[in-house]
Amino acid sequence: MSLTAPDSPPGNYRGRFAPSPTGPLHFGSLVAAVGSYLDARAHGGEWLVRMEDVDAPRNVPGAAEGILATLEAFGFEWQGEVLWQSQRLEAYQAALAELKSRGLAYGCACSRKEIAEAASHPAVDGGLAYPGTCRAGLPPGRPARAWRLRVPDEDWGCEDRLQGAVIQRLERDVGDFVLRRADGQFAYQLAVVVDDAFQEITDVVRGADLIDSTPRQIWLQHCLGVATPRYAHLPVATNAAGEKLSKQTRAPALDPARGGTELVRALAFLGQQPPAELARAGFPEIWQWARAHWRFEALPRQRAVALSGG
Ligand code: GLU
Repeated sequence: MSLTAPDSPPGNYRGRFAPSPTGPLHFGSLVAAVGSYLDARAHGGEWLVRMEDVDAPRNVPGAAEGILATLEAFGFEWQGEVLWQSQRLEAYQAALAELKSRGLAYGCACSRKEIAEAASHPAVDGGLAYPGTCRAGLPPGRPARAWRLRVPDEDWGCEDRLQGAVIQRLERDVGDFVLRRADGQFAYQLAVVVDDAFQEITDVVRGADLIDSTPRQIWLQHCLGVATPRYAHLPVATNAAGEKLSKQTRAPALDPARGGTELVRALAFLGQQPPAELARAGFPEIWQWARAHWRFEALPRQRAVALSGG
């Protein structure tokens, strides 16, 4: 298994922000964007934006354009063109074909109901650990619906720069996981690994809601023979009830007209102690302060932090 270095050397840093266009940018995604952006800047690195619109049924029309316009309005500057996952299907297909040809990926005929009946225990992410029904081959007369990646009965993970060791016993904690779904869509896990490698990302800084995916992604990187980036998982913002801010919990869209306040709030959430009057400054001044005062050591080493006030 691979334990990546706990900190990034200066230079040779490439980070990214990879939103899914399932709704407008809200405070939780702003926090992830600010954290990855400032970490990249602090390392003199590059920062890329990737639109993770691979899950076509979940895309909300206009959301991607809205997210990019909001990022621009807030004054984020990214390197090069935005990479759209919807344009990358051939690369995902090629990766899947390679995994199939090496016997690492296999066809699975199971319906959700069959998995629920056969599964013996939950997976770390709250789903069900796949019980391995189709591992040795499809049942007679049943076609493959989805494609899964074989995982070993071994510990895999990394030393997260913020959260410490993130280790899972893959077969027990996750089970063979889906690379291509029954509806034909490529899974996030495959797309994100192929694209992090394609864009030569050295450092992933993202919300801790994705931390349970990391050992799976590291195993997939190993299977595809690509480099494993360093990871830092930022705390996710929750409401007072402990629920993650999302469309489901009615997190409001960010209003660039109140942008200074939101940006300063995001910095405070990330432990950076901005002076209160900074909220009245323009974006350039706020970014200048943020870059000059960014302290990675001040980031909360927690998976979730409740937001105070509104
Ligand atoms: N697209 C994912 C999301 O919005 C983030 C992927 C990642 O940062 O790895 O939840």
